[in-house]
Amino acid sequence: MPIATTNPATGEVLKTFDPLTDAEIDQALAQAIVAFESLGRTTFAERAGWMRAAADILESEVADVARMMTTEMGKTLASAKAETLKCAKACRFYADNAEQFLADEPVDPAAVNATEARVSYQPLGPVLAVMPWNFPLWQAMRFAAPALMAGNVGLLKHASNVPQTAMFMQELFSRAGFPSGAFQTLLISSGQVERVLSDRRVVAATLTGSEGAGRAIAAIAGRELKKTVLELGGSDAFVVMPSADVAKAAKVATTARCQNNGQSCIAAKRFIVHADIYDEFAAAFVREMSGLVVGDPLDDDTDVGPLATEQGRDDVAAQVADAVAKGARVLCGGEQPERAGWWYTPTVVAELTPDMDMYAQEVFGPVAGLYKVQSYEEAVALANSTDFGLGSNAWTEDESERAAFIRDLQAGAVFINGMTTSYNELPFGGVKNSGYGRELSAHGIKEFCNAKTVWVGEHAPSRPGQHSE
Ligand code: NAP
Repeated sequence: MPIATTNPATGEVLKTFDPLTDAEIDQALAQAIVAFESLGRTTFAERAGWMRAAADILESEVADVARMMTTEMGKTLASAKAETLKCAKACRFYADNAEQFLADEPVDPAAVNATEARVSYQPLGPVLAVMPWNFPLWQAMRFAAPALMAGNVGLLKHASNVPQTAMFMQELFSRAGFPSGAFQTLLISSGQVERVLSDRRVVAATLTGSEGAGRAIAAIAGRELKKTVLELGGSDAFVVMPSADVAKAAKVATTARCQNNGQSCIAAKRFIVHADIYDEFAAAFVREMSGLVVGDPLDDDTDVGPLATEQGRDDVAAQVADAVAKGARVLCGGEQPERAGWWYTPTVVAELTPDMDMYAQEVFGPVAGLYKVQSYEEAVALANSTDFGLGSNAWTEDESERAAFIRDLQAGAVFINGMTTSYNELPFGGVKNSGYGRELSAHGIKEFCNAKTVWVGEHAPSRPGQHSE
């Protein structure tokens, strides 16, 4: 894929970029090593000051930053502004909390036959972050803020369709005061990732993206014995049980499916509804989905803009066409408006069967799959039948049913009576093919730290025979 900004609302190519040459990559990695040494001499307080300065920049320039994202990948301007402010919040969160998250953890010295023992968290070095276009600032920020606060250097390989947002990230941390090279954007193709990750100056990698890209990164990192965190796709269940507030569930279901023009990893994608309230939920859901305004993402009234790429739109259209050809029923939507750019209307598809692509694959667009089940057991079995497991959702007023969902749903997160979302305070990540490792919270910042065991004995000559593993 060429490195270029192409407006998905018009299909117009606005700016193209040349990928870095091998010599330029080498120079960037050399600079990363110098920056890591320089960051290592800074204190948490200094880094927190720069991180807060980055938050100030994001807040004061929110309108321009949001417009840039909307132009690159088609999210509504309102959601792009919210994303920018969410990033500022993440900067402040890690500025406020990193030192405490990474504080030494004392261990009872008597228990380990020492005079002093503790766990000390230290940064690893330059970490490669391969990121997707769907939340172009947020995905990169939730790696960058904890990584820099821990003292790691960030090397961003962003998706090829968001180069301007990628360049802005580098500029942001530089303007905020971080040492030169502490956060660098590498404008490279996915084919150049192997060269960077194989370089011994790069110590670890994180990837947010598709299952295929995750496998590719993990294979290289496995060969090179480098740590990885993978945040991959999802096809999350949104289960609605008879005791639920059906009208509210249908409203939230609509936002959960169509946020970010339907292109969110944690979007609810499979709506699993108990037979007792199926008709009521389906009618309300179809009403809500049909009521969404599809249009220019820069327009304040727009709920759903274009899909980010032509290929993405074609993939969604093909998944729905496949389901229809095999007997599924489209309850609303299923159309590609005739206009420049890459559009697909909010869609609900019912009567899905396992032979249909939509049944097992992630649908990355505003298309909901609707399923009817007869019992709790059937709901959980269907929810868990996918290879993914990111952020599941269950709606019930029944206490024991809630506890059962929390126990039984195979996912990195379970949200009861509310939409799955990411919070700085809570760990974020998946199980099964949705990936491994966690971002955000104290869990996220520790992923790229060396939990170093520190053991101090007495100043006495060692005696023979006193050795153990
Ligand atoms: P993608 O095609 O996998 O791309 C993600 C990133 O990986 C891009 O920077 C891409 O670069 C790079 N890449 C792709 N193939 C690669 C390879 N073989 N080797 C090295 N790098 C490679 O995903 P996307 O279409 O941008 O994003 C959509 C996917 O991301 C969905 O599956 C979604 O669920 C998932 N996602 C997951 C999370 C999460 O937190 N779990 C969050 C957001 C999105 P190029 O652009 O240059 O190809």
